[in-house]
Amino acid sequence: MNSDTENHGFGAVLKELGLKETPKRRVMLEILAEEQRFLSPEELWLALKGRFKTIGLPTVYRNLEELANGGVISTVIHPNRQLYYYFCTAESGHHHHFICTSCRRVEDIPECTVAAMEGEIVTRTGGKITSHIVQFNGFCRHCLADPNERTAI
Ligand SMILES: [Zn+2]
Ligand SMILES: [Zn+2]
Ligand SMILES: [Zn+2]
Repeated sequence: MNSDTENHGFGAVLKELGLKETPKRRVMLEILAEEQRFLSPEELWLALKGRFKTIGLPTVYRNLEELANGGVISTVIHPNRQLYYYFCTAESGHHHHFICTSCRRVEDIPECTVAAMEGEIVTRTGGKITSHIVQFNGFCRHCLADPNERTAI
């Protein structure tokens, strides 16, 4: 895929989700999609500073939040309590993630068995469930196979 196709792709995704396409947002998506691992806002900021000399960390935080709220990227809540971001659009439908806390790979878990629990919870509490957050943390098969590859973040 050449970069023109990629840029066009990101523009279409942003448009689809009702978000304005800006050069900063496009480059953020390029970096996240290329990396294929979850990144912290600070890491993205360092990568962006090479392209946009005057970009500030608050701008990066704001754009990441807007992209995540818009469903273009997804958030990773690490056990270390730091928030990370990963390129996965809401267009792929409701699913969950298995994250490797060592190498930061993310695998899609398409089955959602949590939905089955919701009926029981509603019956028990008399409330109404509007959403749920489920993320599986651990080590991917690559890191399990070679523990020397593991790195703490
Ligand atoms: Zn791993
Ligand atoms: Zn995903
Ligand atoms: Zn679910």
